[in-house]
This record gives sequence, C-alpha cells and structure tokens, in this order.
Amino acid sequence: MQSRPPSSAIVIGSGIVGAATAYFLARRGIAVRLIDASAPAAEATGAADGAVSVASKRPGPMMAAALKGVALYGELADAGLLAGAFKRRSTFIVAASDEECAVLEAHSAALAGAGVRVETLSGTDLRQDFRALSPQAKMAVEVHGEGHAIGYQIVHRLLTASGIVVERDMRVEGFQLEDGGRRIAGITTNRGSLTADVVVIAAGNGSAELLGFSGILTPRKGQLLVTERAPELNAAMRGAIMSGRYLLSKGSQKAGHAPPPRGLGLVIDPLVTGQFLIGGTREDFGKRETNDIDAVSRILKDAVALVPGLAGVRLLRSFAGVRTAVIDGLPLVGRIPGLENGYVATGFEGDGICLGPVTGKSIVQLICGEEPDLDLSSFEPARFAGQGASA
Ligand SMILES: Cc1cc2nc3c(=O)[nH]c(=O)nc-3n(C[C@H](O)[C@H](O)[C@H](O)COP(=O)(O)OP(=O)(O)OC[C@H]3O[C@@H](n4cnc5c(N)ncnc54)[C@H](O)[C@@H]3O)c2cc1C
Repeated sequence: MQSRPPSSAIVIGSGIVGAATAYFLARRGIAVRLIDASAPAAEATGAADGAVSVASKRPGPMMAAALKGVALYGELADAGLLAGAFKRRSTFIVAASDEECAVLEAHSAALAGAGVRVETLSGTDLRQDFRALSPQAKMAVEVHGEGHAIGYQIVHRLLTASGIVVERDMRVEGFQLEDGGRRIAGITTNRGSLTADVVVIAAGNGSAELLGFSGILTPRKGQLLVTERAPELNAAMRGAIMSGRYLLSKGSQKAGHAPPPRGLGLVIDPLVTGQFLIGGTREDFGKRETNDIDAVSRILKDAVALVPGLAGVRLLRSFAGVRTAVIDGLPLVGRIPGLENGYVATGFEGDGICLGPVTGKSIVQLICGEEPDLDLSSFEPARFAGQGASA
C-alpha cells in the first residue's frame, strides 16, 4: 500500500471524477498528468443532467456519500471555486398514483432518518405552493438543501483553478508491471509510455477494458431534453421536480422494485438560464448517444402531464450520454486489487456529478495515507477481486 504521499501521479480520464482527483492531487503539490482518450468532459460528464442530490439515493452508503457530496459542493461554492456554477435549490419528489405515494412515504422516512430535511406537501398546500403542478399530483416531498451543477462547467473550474492542461487524444492501452506484478511501473498509450508513482483510473466506460472488468461494469444510456427559455414558468418552480416513478426507474427503493430494462423516470430541472432540462431514460441497450422518437415523446408526454404549462414551451434539443454502472449498484472506489500503486474511481451510474468532487478528494486522501472523507468500505474494488484481468 502507498503509505507516504507520492510525488507524481497519472490520472486516466478527464471527466468530473478524473478532473476532481487531479485538482486535489495538484493542491498538495503532487505533479499530475491528466490524460484522456478524447477531451475533457467528452463522455458522461458532458451529457448529464446535473442533479447534486440526495433525494433519489438508495438508503445506505449511497445516501451517506451523497450527503457528503452535496456538502462539499456547498463548501466549494462558498470558497469561490464553484461560485455561480452550483445552483442551490430544493428537489420536489412528486407522487401521482397510490403506488408512488407509498414508495415516496417510505423514501421520505429514509431521507429524514439520514438527517435530510424533508417536508410533505399534499392537498391544498401542494396546489397553493406549487401552482405549476398538474392536479394529477397527489403529494410531494420537498427535499431541502440540494442543488444543480453542469458537469462540464465543474470540470472547467477544477482544471482552470489547478492550472492542469489535459493531454488529449491519448488513449491508455495497458500497464507495465514490476515487483512480480504488484506495482504499476508505467502505462502504455497510443503516444508512448509514461511513468509516475501512482496511477488512478477514472476512465468511465473505458475503465472496464483497463481493469478487465467487462462483466462488472456496464454502460447505461440516458436521453435528455432541453427546452427554450420560459422565464415565467421557470420562476414559478421553486426547485426541480422528480416524479415518484424516477425512484422506481433508478431502483432507489429496496426489494420488489427492480428497474425495468428501459426505465423512464421524469426529472424537470428549471435552469438558471430560464430553460428546462427534462430527463430521462435508463437503457441497457440501444445505440450510444442517439435519441429516438419513442423516448423523446414519452418524456415530453410525462413532463406535460405533471407540469401542464410545458405544453406551450418548445423543445430546443435532445441529447444522450452513457453512464457507467456496476452490477451491484455501488461504485468502484479504492485501490485496485493486487496493485500497490494503482487506484480506480468509476461506476457512478447516474450519481457522478454529485459524487465526483467528494470522490476525487477522498481518493487523494486514501493515496496519501489519510482517512478519506467518504466511507469507502462499501465501494472497495476488492469485492470483485479475482474477477478482473488485473487481479
Ligand atoms: C443522461 C445522463 C444523466 C445524468 N444525470 C446525472 C445527475 O443528474 N446527477 C449526477 O450526479 N450524475 C448524473 N449522471 C451521471 C454522471 O454524468 C456520471 O456518473 C459522471 O459524469 C461520471 O464521470 P466520470 O469522470 O467517472 O466518467 P466520464 O465523464 O465518462 O469520463 C471518463 C473519461 O475517460 C476517458 N477515457 C476512457 N477510456 C480511456 C482510456 N483508455 N484512456 C484515456 N482516457 C480514457 C473518456 O474519454 C472520458 O473523457 C448522468 C449521466 C447521464 C449519461
């Protein structure tokens, strides 16, 4: 195990996780090379919604991690680094059926148990407080203290503040090992070999091949929509709206609510620009980064059913991105099994914008032999030891 802080590091992947890791390494004076097969925020980070949210997290380690993730965004915004890039707002989880009400009541209790401030609105309170909502809405839970951030803006802030220039179009192809395979001596790329004291894999869907974890990490596509500006309607919404069905599509609930193969869970986020970001799907199949009319029309139909005023707002664009999921639903963060100086941080599925900065900070603390801010015990890559090429 790396016990003293290293003097140099290579971070593979310049999405939000790699950029945050590089930022926290650089802040300690460690020489960092941040390399990417493409460009900063080229993959999931550049195609995400951006909810910095505890609201949808499954009770347990993910909810605990998200609480720390949201708190760090607040600290970094107050410190100036993320000022203006992190919008504070509530999330309103809305139930429109008896099934959703039951799920929402259980979820609200779990959030409250984790220390989150929640408030239940129903009947006339709900109508008065949230006029933009359709009468279909039976109840809502306001989750306080949440926020929104655009992934590529956060990456830009982190890189600018640390003066790190991403080495673009550099694809990592493999590792050179030493000490009987226990240490990474260097990495092999399409543009030659590099060496450093430690290597961190934060390569999103590219991590599967590097780790030999193709059956463990899986791509999960999502389609999102952006509307034109509608300042009046936007101002009438005090926060993001998440349908109770989103909890089901994300599998945020325990047993009995497995996510369907193409989950459709609605989130309507009023952006600072006056536009709305509306999403989205969870798909374990289909062509990467393309939109299809079935998904787009179903998302719009659901959105208008919950916020009827959206019927008069034009759709500006649709886009898609691919999340990196782990088969057990928890990310992979920690030392790579069997390697003293190799680390991985990936598999955040739909939570990496929220968890990216706190994960970068925690992995650097781990590398430097300190107690990480996040409790990483449930995220240990060692739970898959023996199942990857690197083990
Ligand atoms: C539609 C959608 C909606 C989402 N909504 C939210 C949300 O509301 N809230 C939230 O918290 N999260 C959300 N997410 C999830 C979030 O976007 C991801 O979890 C997060 O961006 C993952 O960041 P990353 O740095 O791990 O990976 P990525 O952003 O995928 O970055 C990985 C980088 O590694 C590079 N790379 C890959 N292979 C190699 C290689 N061999 N050599 C060198 N470089 C390589 C890639 O080019 C890429 O730039 C959403 C995602 C999607 C797709």
